[in-house]
Amino acid sequence: MKRELIYSGKAKDIYSTDDDNVIISVYKDQATMLNGARKEEVKGKGILNNRISSFIFDKLNAAGVATHFIEQLSDTEQLNKKVDIIPLEVVLRNITAGSFSKRFGVEEGIELATPIVEFYYKNDDLDDPFINDEHVAFLDLASAEDLAYIKAETRKINDLLKDLFAQTGLRLVDFKLEFGYDKDGHILLADEFSPDNCRLWDAEGNHLDKDVFRRNLGSLTDVYELVLAKLQEVK
Ligand code: UDP
Repeated sequence: MKRELIYSGKAKDIYSTDDDNVIISVYKDQATMLNGARKEEVKGKGILNNRISSFIFDKLNAAGVATHFIEQLSDTEQLNKKVDIIPLEVVLRNITAGSFSKRFGVEEGIELATPIVEFYYKNDDLDDPFINDEHVAFLDLASAEDLAYIKAETRKINDLLKDLFAQTGLRLVDFKLEFGYDKDGHILLADEFSPDNCRLWDAEGNHLDKDVFRRNLGSLTDVYELVLAKLQEVK
């Protein structure tokens, strides 16, 4: 099989396959924050994120969400449909935390009556600035119709995953999604869903996500393993 590295990201490497519309994502043992300014090798993280993300994308596919996920290939690899990623970080918040709390001067942990969807322009040189739908139009990232679809899909995905995590005893505080266009111009959920790009709190308020790394709260892989184990117990 022809296999060439076509992109190397912070958390994953992307390889081509014999099929132009299919890629292999290889999850790496690297944790980063502050746009890569802090970077550390975390042994075992790639396997855990691949397993967690594969588990969640399987559930989303089964629920009828259009995603890029085809199948998990090995401990660190998965097969994905190739998409052109829309340079938009779509964040959904159920509970205040992180940059939201900082920006608006509110404490962490306030339940939002209606979940809030935010957009950030995915651009490392600009440090991923906070933008709104009019900036999306100005930057020509997606049409108004496509953006409305992305927003509605994000809320639907939240409903599904909030419920899934509730069954594990965890609260889905917030998360970041990325979408892309497939060869036919259809929008698919892409990238990954793991504790690297969501916040999960247990009933005691413990953080079971990348905040463990960001805030030096303990072993990242210990909590990711716990998240995977809890998900695998869901019926
Ligand atoms: N997030 C992400 N990638 C980013 C920025 C944020 O995956 O580049 C996720 C983050 O893990 C959290 C949610 O998006 O689940 C909201 O993050 P926030 O804006 O609060 O930023 P942070 O406090 O993480 O810098």
